[in-house]
Amino acid sequence: MNRSTSSDLIRRAKRSIPGGVNSPVRAFKGVGGDPVFFNRGNGPYVYDVDNNQYVDYVGSWGPMILGHGHQPTVDAVVAQAQKALGFGAPTEGEITLAEAIIERVPSIEKVRMVNSGTEATMSAIRLARGFTGRDKILKFTGCYHGHSDSLLVKAGSGVLTLGIPNSPGVPAAVAADTLNAPFNDISAVQAIFAQYPEQIACIIVEPIAGNMGCIPPVEGFLEGLQDITRKDGALLIFDEVMTGFRVHKGSAQGMYNIQPDLTTLGKIVGGGLPVGAFGGRADVMSYIAPEGPVYQAGTLSGNPLAVSAGLSTLSHLDDALYERVAQATDALVAGLKALAAKHKVQMATNHVCGMFGLFFDVEQVENFDHVSNSNVEKFNRFFHAMLDNGVYLAPSAFEAGFVSGTHNSEAIEATINMYDVFGLGNAL
Ligand code: PLP
Repeated sequence: MNRSTSSDLIRRAKRSIPGGVNSPVRAFKGVGGDPVFFNRGNGPYVYDVDNNQYVDYVGSWGPMILGHGHQPTVDAVVAQAQKALGFGAPTEGEITLAEAIIERVPSIEKVRMVNSGTEATMSAIRLARGFTGRDKILKFTGCYHGHSDSLLVKAGSGVLTLGIPNSPGVPAAVAADTLNAPFNDISAVQAIFAQYPEQIACIIVEPIAGNMGCIPPVEGFLEGLQDITRKDGALLIFDEVMTGFRVHKGSAQGMYNIQPDLTTLGKIVGGGLPVGAFGGRADVMSYIAPEGPVYQAGTLSGNPLAVSAGLSTLSHLDDALYERVAQATDALVAGLKALAAKHKVQMATNHVCGMFGLFFDVEQVENFDHVSNSNVEKFNRFFHAMLDNGVYLAPSAFEAGFVSGTHNSEAIEATINMYDVFGLGNAL
């Protein structure tokens, strides 16, 4: 497969952009080789600048649950662009989007729009600290909540890919207030709360971890977190930037039937445009300025283009769509597992609705330690074999894959067939 134009572009990009990319994992540092430059997408497919077609399992890192070029969403954005790109003043669309989120996610009584998942989690943490009057927070090793200082401690996603446990530039004093526990380990959380009673403002958790592959919660884990936070007077924050509207129309909390105090959203809620949101209990949200004393603001927050893309996307997420996405993901994972077995390759998989993770040379993956024991070199060879045969996976062993409602049987079968012909047996 000829990708020479991409290779030319990354050389040019490196002269003007650090590492040639505007977000680290895009650089292919984890898997090696040159990143692919894309210029269009259609349904489950993306096309690079050399006109190669790929079945896309990145989906812009999650937002593209309706596939690329979803016409009603494109039309909604174009119609809004023709009216105005933004005002920095209230618009009716913001209310409609807030109402749409509140209707779908029962724990959210009020919601504030921001411009990224990072802003959403950073603001939710400030709110939790302001509301409780406590400084410490608890997160889980390998979970990623964006790149704000407090949360860039033992994080997943690009930090994991690049092997950076704690980033230089995060003051030690800030990191000291971020406590860590292993994901899916409720007794570790109990021990930390016993050590710091009434000192922890909140637990922030990805209800399905998606930044160290895909790791669902073990039974009782999320309920246990709710129990512990309620008893201690801390808040429970579900970071649903990735899982929000991806696994269920009520997000992961709708699927597991748990109501956190606060929820952060991003990705799908912006329909592919730069958006985040945080919301939750009305009494907590009322602490946000201008209603309350906790400051949070944004020049472009609630931007009309982003709001129109988000609204259109949410309005197309019905039960039939989730059923389709879940079936396509089941078929993909089952097909890959069957091939791995045929080629005698040990591969563990996790998947929930439209999210999946593939882990080589481990049997079961429930936490960061299990992920760390997986064979990254094997994943990297697998990744390149897939790429060279028209399948675009996230360029890191530590990222979840995403399936859209447009991944029909043709796209899924093409993926599995490429894998059979060129994949495990030959490549690994
Ligand atoms: N939280 C989670 C769970 C995420 O997966 C991400 C990004 O992947 C973020 C927060 C940060 O969002 P953003 O990249 O939009 O800042």
